Amino acid sequence: MASNPLEFIVETAFKVIRNKINPNYEAEQARRIAEYAKNRIVAFSLTCNCQGLAIPVYGTTHNYLCSKCNRRFANAKHSLNLTAEEYNAGYQLIRNESK
Ligand SMILES: [Zn+2]
Repeated sequence: MASNPLEFIVETAFKVIRNKINPNYEAEQARRIAEYAKNRIVAFSLTCNCQGLAIPVYGTTHNYLCSKCNRRFANAKHSLNLTAEEYNAGYQLIRNESK
């Protein structure tokens, strides 16, 4: 986010030019972030007793939630290093792909 008027003008001009070069830039960027977040979430996931994928719970260090049986349990430490927005994007991708 721009902190002063000049920065705002430069940022806005940059976005206008970028969108002219590639109108899909923002959608592609959102997709890249979601893919990155999904890969991080899956990398720290465990296999639940039911064989479902147990994914790390955001905002916790040791909690997991099974995407199949919804069991929540504590196990090995995970360190996602994702923002809430990134985590949600990755989580949505996992949910959509498991449908
Ligand atoms: Zn389970």
